Amino acid sequence: MTDFPTTDRNQVRRMPTRASYDATTIYPIIDEALICHVGFVEDGQPFVIPTIHARMDNTIVLHGAKASRLLKHAATGAPLCITCTLVDGLVLARSVFHHSMNYRSAVLFGRGRLASTTEEKWAALETITEHVMPGRWADARQPNEIEMNATSVILVDIEEATAKVRTGPPGDDEEDYALPIWAGVLPTPMIPQPPVDDPRLNEGIDVPGYVDAYWRK
Ligand SMILES: Cc1cc2nc3c(=O)[nH]c(=O)nc-3n(C[C@H](O)[C@H](O)[C@H](O)COP(=O)(O)OP(=O)(O)OC[C@H]3O[C@@H](n4cnc5c(N)ncnc54)[C@H](O)[C@@H]3O)c2cc1C
Repeated sequence: MTDFPTTDRNQVRRMPTRASYDATTIYPIIDEALICHVGFVEDGQPFVIPTIHARMDNTIVLHGAKASRLLKHAATGAPLCITCTLVDGLVLARSVFHHSMNYRSAVLFGRGRLASTTEEKWAALETITEHVMPGRWADARQPNEIEMNATSVILVDIEEATAKVRTGPPGDDEEDYALPIWAGVLPTPMIPQPPVDDPRLNEGIDVPGYVDAYWRK
């Protein structure tokens, strides 16, 4: 895995010490994030749309209804900006000014294209399903022809990318460390809760092991 090029578009200017252009930092952020936000401009109006994504090598895959504006726009090859954000903790400083969050975020630039073959679409849908819940694709009923025809899949090759990562305690002004105010970090890991059966679940079907053991990382 190599570094992404640093350009005018993706070079971090604010807090550049928190930046990385390295796929070994960027890919795990994409993979851990459950969703992304896709930004695009249509007729001068910006839109930022949350959606499910997955990564296949250096390509982001998106899917949805054929009528989706986002997917129709992405299929034209227009420029897209995709972000993935993980909030790791709330950083509570002594001063309000220095409050922050610990995070790992990735900003990706690229252009979309419509998956053209059934094989490409099938592989993308499997990857998206496994991105959300590893083990589910083989367990669930897979898409039929009608469902496949109703679904668009967009592939976005990542041209440029940046990660920005904040870790560690708050950084207060030196004179504020003497203040009698609690300061520190409240970690906010994503911890799944016990699964809830579908009220229409047939008797005798247990929660699969991959659901019980679900962990985002
Ligand atoms: C959970 C969270 C909370 C944040 N809260 C704040 C806040 O309250 N106030 C605030 O000012 N900033 C906050 N940030 C940082 C924010 O995302 C920007 O990095 C920062 O505001 C600088 O913006 P800019 O447009 O000047 O970036 P620039 O440094 O000019 O951005 C240039 C390029 O750097 C890359 N880049 C910039 N930011 C990021 C990023 N976060 N992740 C990956 N690549 C990036 C992009 O490629 C971008 O095009 C937060 C970030 C996260 C993830």
